[in-house]
Amino acid sequence: MKIIDKINAHKSTDPFFSFEFFPPKTDDGLSNLYVRLKRMSVLDPLFVSFTWGAGGSTAERTTEMCTTAQGLFGLETCMHLTCTNVVDEILEEALNEAKNSGIQNILALRGDPPRGQDSWTPSDGNFLHAIDLVKCIRKKYNDWFCIGVAGYPEGHPDSDDKDQDLRYLKEKVDAGADFIITQLFYDVDSFVEWEKECRKIGITVPIIPGIMPIQGYNSFRRVTNLCKINIPTDILNALEQIKHDDQAIKDYGVSLAISMITILHEKHNVNGFHFCTLNLEKSVRLILEKMGFVPTEEERNLKRSIKRRPSVGY
Ligand code: FAD
Repeated sequence: MKIIDKINAHKSTDPFFSFEFFPPKTDDGLSNLYVRLKRMSVLDPLFVSFTWGAGGSTAERTTEMCTTAQGLFGLETCMHLTCTNVVDEILEEALNEAKNSGIQNILALRGDPPRGQDSWTPSDGNFLHAIDLVKCIRKKYNDWFCIGVAGYPEGHPDSDDKDQDLRYLKEKVDAGADFIITQLFYDVDSFVEWEKECRKIGITVPIIPGIMPIQGYNSFRRVTNLCKINIPTDILNALEQIKHDDQAIKDYGVSLAISMITILHEKHNVNGFHFCTLNLEKSVRLILEKMGFVPTEEERNLKRSIKRRPSVGY
């Protein structure tokens, strides 16, 4: 089913969430992730998505994971696809395989530069930006796919003109994108302001904020530096004090995500959240349980045991 149809069918005030995973490098890693994915499917995400490795480096594995998640686990799946190192046949193969497996959702991206390259250079003059991929999918597959695109609340790192960046986002939507998933952010106000700007210039499709619970100090600093994401000073200060305590960092990551989601949901009526899971389960599960978006393990077990209890005929 298309993500946009699922969102539209969802009661507008009810929260929904989705999970993003990346393809592990090893077969063992993949088997472990499948076990985790099966467990996480109980949480009932609106959809799950799988990244497309920089430069198409994970093309086969991404496609395999998408078909397994959709076919075997019955999860609504969204396949990320990028223009980096794009060769028409790889693109067509991936899209045909997705279509044949019943996958109806593609996140169309330009892509990160391949490993070892600092900047992005197109390998095909027909695919310079994500919009070219959106147009290509619409042209070849008409309305079969629901298409998502990326948005950047703090502006894209390659762009020094936020307004122009926003106009490009509108062009992606006008070219056929159905929804937007945002880059990670930790400055809630900047997201809220940016979303208002999007609406002001006529972007009407759903915008799903990207939430990455902090899992480790070094990895967090690396990702946020790479993506040039602003970290509010109070968060930096709090992290600085606990940076050598892995569990304290994880706990802080959970409470920070909860406070961000609470403000977005309760104050700004944001109902959908896309979790960048980093292939991990615990923090995301805790956040959803503490937010009351999903029942706790205990509540689930209780429900199960009540169901199993034989009825007594008084
Ligand atoms: P674009 O929309 O093409 O934008 C890139 C730059 O070009 C921006 O500076 C923009 O302002 C400019 N631009 C856009 N349109 C035009 C135009 N028509 N003319 C001139 N300039 C234009 N990367 C991966 O490799 N694999 C993934 O799986 C992946 N998943 C992601 C998921 C999410 C939710 C997000 C937010 C990012 C993801 N990325 C992924 C990273 C993404 O590929 C990079 O951020 C990349 O640098 C930009 O991709 P984009 O689709 O936003 O590109």
